[in-house]
Amino acid sequence: MTLEAKIAAVAGVLKRIQDEFSPATFASSLGAEDMVLTDLIAKHAPGISVFSLDTGRLNPETYELLAKVQETYGKQVEIKVYYPQPDALQQYVEHNGINAFYHSVDLRKACCGIRKVEPLKRALAGKTAWITGMRRQQAVTRANMPVQEHDADHGLEKFNPLADWTEKDVWEYIRGNGIPYNALHDKHYPSIGCAPCTRNIAVGEDVRAGRWWWEDESGKECGLHVKKV
Ligand code: SF4
Repeated sequence: MTLEAKIAAVAGVLKRIQDEFSPATFASSLGAEDMVLTDLIAKHAPGISVFSLDTGRLNPETYELLAKVQETYGKQVEIKVYYPQPDALQQYVEHNGINAFYHSVDLRKACCGIRKVEPLKRALAGKTAWITGMRRQQAVTRANMPVQEHDADHGLEKFNPLADWTEKDVWEYIRGNGIPYNALHDKHYPSIGCAPCTRNIAVGEDVRAGRWWWEDESGKECGLHVKKV
């Protein structure tokens, strides 16, 4: 399929979500794929709201991008930012230390729970559908991901409109439309999360190799996209 055909298909999916699944919201982590979807939402389905999770541990480049997105799209796309519950965060850090996520998978998942999973639940409350920028090629855990699925954990529909896009498609769209993106992508960070849990990768390494690099591949999700089995 050509990129033009893929763009038209995503525009169609977004319009359908806007019309049939209102209120719907797009979870932007401000990654390259999320910039593509932000642009397509602004152009084709502005009734879909956009939010982002500020974990408090993001890279400076990510905050710069957030400001740039606000400048570029203004009122057209307003990103609502959700923050962790201060009491839960304070307790976790006081009890375990500021960088406790390096000490065990359980402490890492607890950190993601407070900084990402709980704020996500608040962001999705009252919504009929949510949208992500995930692609099948990004990780072994995403290889069979459909464009539309029921998210039983959160009790709503979940859409992954870029599921079949390649990395090349994403960058062709970004460059072709001159839209903003995270400066870290130019420093070999294909997948960007929290600063202490993300590093750059070598040429030929898996695109998710820079996330939680000290852990086993099969468990490398932050809890935002985990399915009950
Ligand atoms: S990615 Fe790292 S810093 Fe960010 S919430 Fe998860 S464990 Fe905490």
